[in-house]
Amino acid sequence: MSYDPDNIFAKILREEIPCIKVYEDASTLAFMDIMPQADGHTLVIPKQAAVDLFELSADAAADLIQKVQLIAGAVKRATQADGITLFQLNGAAAGQTVPHIHFHILPGSILAARQHASVNADREHLQTIATDIRAALADS
Ligand code: AMP
Repeated sequence: MSYDPDNIFAKILREEIPCIKVYEDASTLAFMDIMPQADGHTLVIPKQAAVDLFELSADAAADLIQKVQLIAGAVKRATQADGITLFQLNGAAAGQTVPHIHFHILPGSILAARQHASVNADREHLQTIATDIRAALADS
């Protein structure tokens, strides 16, 4: 599948649409999922244009998992979750809806999250959690 430069995460990377950011560096952006499946649900994306894991360069994949490790640790501390689920979908047949590779960081269990309604979260609530995650990152 060829990369669509107008997918929603590409637009977020170009700052054409807003996000609630928790982390950014030269290669990576992390922000709150707008329809969280649990409090603290965070997405981590590389800046490299890639639809899925298989399109990502090996160097970018190695960098991305290190950033996921860093940010997931901060999400765990900020939400005081006992456990953290990571997931990453490749292809529509796997359930991927946004065609720019992303890791989900989900406090708690994905089985519990499946019962959570998929609705846009209150922006102020997301901002509050994002502030806590940024503080936890600053402490790491
Ligand atoms: P996936 O099904 O793995 O492709 O997940 C895409 C995720 O992106 C879903 O959890 C959506 O809630 C989330 N999402 C879609 N649009 C936005 C957006 N503008 N800002 C933040 N998260 C989004």
